[in-house]
This record gives sequence, structure tokens and C-alpha cells, in this order.
Amino acid sequence: MNFEFYMPVKVIQGSDCVTSHPEIWTSLGKKAFIVTGKSSAKKNGSQDDVEAALKACGMEFEVFDEIMSNPTIEVVYKGAEKMKACGADFVVGIGGGSPMDAAKVIALLYSQEIREEDLFSGNYKDCLPPMVMIPTTAGTGSEVTKAAILTNDRLQTKSSISTPLIFPTVSFLDAKYMMHMGRRTTVHTAIDALSHSLEGMLSSKATSISDILAKESISVIASCFGDLLSEGELSMDVREKLLYGSTLGGMVIAHTGTTAVHSMGYELTYFKGDDHGRANGLLLGGFLKLAKERAPERAEAILQALGMKDPAELSEMMEKLLKEKTKATEEEIQKFADIAMKAKNIRNGAFEVTRDDVVDMYRTACEKD
Ligand code: NAP
Ligand code: FE
Repeated sequence: MNFEFYMPVKVIQGSDCVTSHPEIWTSLGKKAFIVTGKSSAKKNGSQDDVEAALKACGMEFEVFDEIMSNPTIEVVYKGAEKMKACGADFVVGIGGGSPMDAAKVIALLYSQEIREEDLFSGNYKDCLPPMVMIPTTAGTGSEVTKAAILTNDRLQTKSSISTPLIFPTVSFLDAKYMMHMGRRTTVHTAIDALSHSLEGMLSSKATSISDILAKESISVIASCFGDLLSEGELSMDVREKLLYGSTLGGMVIAHTGTTAVHSMGYELTYFKGDDHGRANGLLLGGFLKLAKERAPERAEAILQALGMKDPAELSEMMEKLLKEKTKATEEEIQKFADIAMKAKNIRNGAFEVTRDDVVDMYRTACEKD
């Protein structure tokens, strides 16, 4: 059995963990550059906690709160300029995947000059400042991944910067920040996490360790499906399970990468405005069905972790959770397929996915417009 496992992120999970570790904050430098979205971090208490922790250590900080969902190339260059101007020693990303990914790229651009055309090249110097991540959604796992995803208008999709240099230094996981998250964002982000673990098990890079993490993540997230379908408030216990499942999913894709579902989902986000997790969820059942034909043992292990009999059961669950399908014309589907086939991660699977497969999966995922 041959494998490599590299997970350099210090992960601290627990109630009030942000404010109860002064020794970590002081080890990072004297001034923090906080990268976050417009409003959620202010409402859910995460930004207050970070500022309180820094103040208690006598440290300075500056806040850059302009990160939008599916961040643009422009916003990360702007953030890096601001960070250079304020002379911070380290970056703190607070929020969902969008601010965390943006924080990683800001750290990269702060540390070295990279021309926009070379941003996704993978050629970077090893001189990044420390990065702290505080996830406030339970979905992307970005707090433990070596990836950052940006909207790429030139290619009309989303593109990934992938390098071990952007593994965060420390991640603080506290599910209390998610207690008042709306049902839509909760469901969409949980499906993103599920998708990471499921795709990870269908990646050509899956190892026995990534499989253990993926199976645990899939079964923990699947155990929350009933709560996600109910209308009531989710308990702290369920919020913690979703966060745990999502961080495990991040550890999975840090080793396996994502596969066809993510490459195809990006087009639904770019052209149809679907949230990232929703886009993946629309495609997930079709992908597992294909896996059942092409990699039956892998698909069986996934079904077992899900506690389901067949891929149709997963499709039904996704339909219940996502409510309506996205509408797309046949012409749009053909265009999405052309773009998805050019993505790096579509060739990352344990079995080949052809253009015809991609078109079929889009047709199943979308309603005819
Ligand atoms: P997001 O785009 O970060 O946030 C979605 C929305 O949720 C925003 O409106 C945000 O508000 C709000 N929000 C965040 N935390 C909240 C909370 N606790 N309560 C209420 N609302 C909250 O969504 P995401 O799904 O977490 O991240 C998606 C991005 O991550 C995509 O760009 C995707 O491609 C990327 N991704 C990255 C990786 C990786 O490995 N790096 C993996 C998968 C996906 P504000 O804007 O006000 O903050
Ligand atoms: Fe994702």
C-alpha cells in the first residue's frame, strides 16, 4: 500500500476557541489583516471574537470586508494592495469559502509579485505570511485545503489556485457562528461538503486514509439529512456535525482534488447564478449513477456510508433538499459541456468521464428551458 498524507494545518475545534488561545495569536505577529465578507461575520459574532482576541493580546488589526461570493480576481489584488499599505504580519480569513479563499490569495499576492496572467500557473515562491481561517459556513473545507477558487471571466468559469503554500497555518472551528444561518445557505453548503467527500472517493488520487475521512464525513452529513429537511432551528449538535463533516471533506480534497461534479458545477454558478453547493447537488445523483456503472465497488462504499440502497435515493434526497431544478436550454448545456471538458479536475476521476456523459448529467440535473 503506497500513499502520502500531508495535513499541515493546526485545527482547533470547540466552543469559544477563537478567544481562548492567546498563545496562538501572539505567535503569529503583531498586526493582523482581517479578510471577510460584507455583513455575515459582523452578525454572527465571529469578527467580534477575532477583534476581541487580538485586542486582549495588545495586537493591531485592519479589516477588509469587501469579499463577495465567488470572489473575483480584482478583489484579491485590491486586498493585497491594502495589506501591503497597512503592513500586517498575517492574514485572518473569516466567513464562508469565498472570504477564506480570498484571504489565501491575498496572502500569496502580498508575499510576491504575480502578474494576473500567471495567477493560476502554480509557480510561486515559498514566502507567504501565516494564515488563520475561521469558517462560518460548513461546506467548503477551505480551512484545511491547499486550494482557492476565483471567478475567471476570461475562461467564463471558476479557476483554482492549488498549491501546498496556501494551506492555512491555523483554523479555528466554532459551530456557534452557524447557529442562525438561513436554511438555504445551510443546505447548499452541507451539500458542497458531501460532494467533496463523495468526489474524493471517486478520484484517481483516493488513498486508504482519504477514504476513511470521506466515509466518516459522508455518514456524518447523511445523518443530518432529516434535520436539514425539517423546518425547525438546527441544534448546536447538528451544526457541529455539519462542520466536522465539512472539515473532513476539506482534508479529503486536499489529497484527492475534486472531480467531474465540481468541474460541471462551476458552469451552473457562472452562467445560472446557482450557489456553489446547490450546483454540485443538482449533479451529484447523476454522477453516482455513472459511478455505479463504471466503478461499482467505489459506488457501493459510498452508498453504504450514505445508508442508501441506490443512486436514485441520493437524487431524490437532493431534489427534496434543493426543491426546484435549474432551467437550461439544450444550447446552454452544450456550451457548459464544452467548458467543463476543459477543466483540469474532470480528468481527476477514478474512471473516464466523456463529453456525452457530461451532457447526460447536465440534462438530468437541469429542467428543459
Ligand atoms: P460564501 O460565498 O462564502 O458565502 C455565501 C453566503 O453566506 C454569503 O452571503 C455570506 O455572507 C453568507 N454567510 C457566511 N457565513 C454565514 C453565517 N454564519 N450565517 C449566515 N450567513 C452566512 O459561501 P461558501 O459556500 O461557504 O463558499 C463558496 C466558495 O468557496 C465558492 O467560491 C467555492 O468555489 C469555494 N470553494 C472553495 C474550496 C476550497 O478548497 N478552497 C472548496 C469548495 C468550494 P457575507 O458575504 O456577508 O459574508
Ligand atoms: Fe466545493
